[in-house]
Parts: sequence; C-alpha cells; structure tokens
Amino acid sequence: MIRPPVGAGAAFSEAGDGDVRNDPTARGGLSRRLGIATEWATLRQVHGAHVVEAVGPGPQGEADAIWTTRNGLPVGVFTADCFGVVLHADDAVGVAHAGWRGARSGVVSRLAAVMSEAGHAPRRAMVGPGIRACCFEVGLEVAEHFPGAQTTTTWGTLSVDLPAVIVTQLGGLDVDVIEGCTRHEDRFFSHRRDGTRQRQTALGWIP
Ligand SMILES: [Zn+2]
Repeated sequence: MIRPPVGAGAAFSEAGDGDVRNDPTARGGLSRRLGIATEWATLRQVHGAHVVEAVGPGPQGEADAIWTTRNGLPVGVFTADCFGVVLHADDAVGVAHAGWRGARSGVVSRLAAVMSEAGHAPRRAMVGPGIRACCFEVGLEVAEHFPGAQTTTTWGTLSVDLPAVIVTQLGGLDVDVIEGCTRHEDRFFSHRRDGTRQRQTALGWIP
C-alpha cells in the first residue's frame, strides 16, 4: 500500500494488498493495517461525473465521486488503470474515480465544487497511481478531448497525460501526484495489461 508523505487520511492499495473490490478478506486486512473501519462507503462506478454524499458504509449508488463529513467512515473507489483522487477539507473527505471519460466530464472538479458548495472546500488533493502517459495509448477520438495534454507513449504512439489534466482541473489546490504506472508496473492491477477484474483502491477518511 502507498501512504501519502504527510499524515493525511488517505491510502492507495497495490496488487499485493489483494483484490479489495471483490474480496472482503483483503479489504479487512487492508483496513486493519490502516487502523480504519472495515466497512467503507463505495459506489457503483460508471465513468461519469455524478457526486454523492455518503451517509453510511456500503454501496451509495451509481456515481464516480463520494464524500463525507462522518468521522470514521472511509470512502473508497476502485481502479485498475483509472486514477483515484482524494480530496481533503478541514472536516470532510472525498474521493473520485477518473479515467479519460471521468476527466473529460470533469468529475474531480465537480467533487471539489460540491464539497465547496456544502461549506467544505478541499484544501489538499492526492492523485493516486493509474495508467500514465508512458502507456496510455489512445486514438484521436480520445486525444481530441485533451488538446493541452497530448504526448506520446514510450513506444511512440499518441497518448494523453491524465494526471496533468486532473491537476489542471484542481487548479488552486495543493496537489500531490503519487508515482506509479499501473500498466507497466507489476505491483498494480491493470485492466489494459491483463483484462483483470481485480481492483486496487483509493481510500480517504477524516484523520
Ligand atoms: Zn507506463
């Protein structure tokens, strides 16, 4: 698992932590190592920009961003190439699931806006591991949505720098971008590499 450098309530799991989406035992083990509740508030993720406020543990509906002001309630999204992004306010925490579709629809800035409108403006953000520009080969139909973030893969084809897009969408916030490319580093699950149904998590909680 990856912990942010500062003691904020956030963690990003790796393949070695197990399939935390589908395996309750893996989820429990990760929770115990983090010292947090084993029941997380989660979503049915659909690559959109809908935001929900978590009212308790368990599934909170169909959305791609979730936040809470409840102490002791972890909020989590599951990823296997998409990026998990954790936002911390003084008394609230949110997490978003952003692949290229989520980035295109602005799910991360939408989460920040919803938290701000509720009086919990985020002050700090962490962008977790995901498929980086080195490996995110795309066609023109994807790249055209990100004119300022087009680059090339390590094998010379068109790619998009999604973390750069996300950081731009979080303009004004203090953002830590965690290292790690899920596709070319074996320590992560990668849908592109393996077609896996296994997932890692990006978790946030109020510390
Ligand atoms: Zn890579």
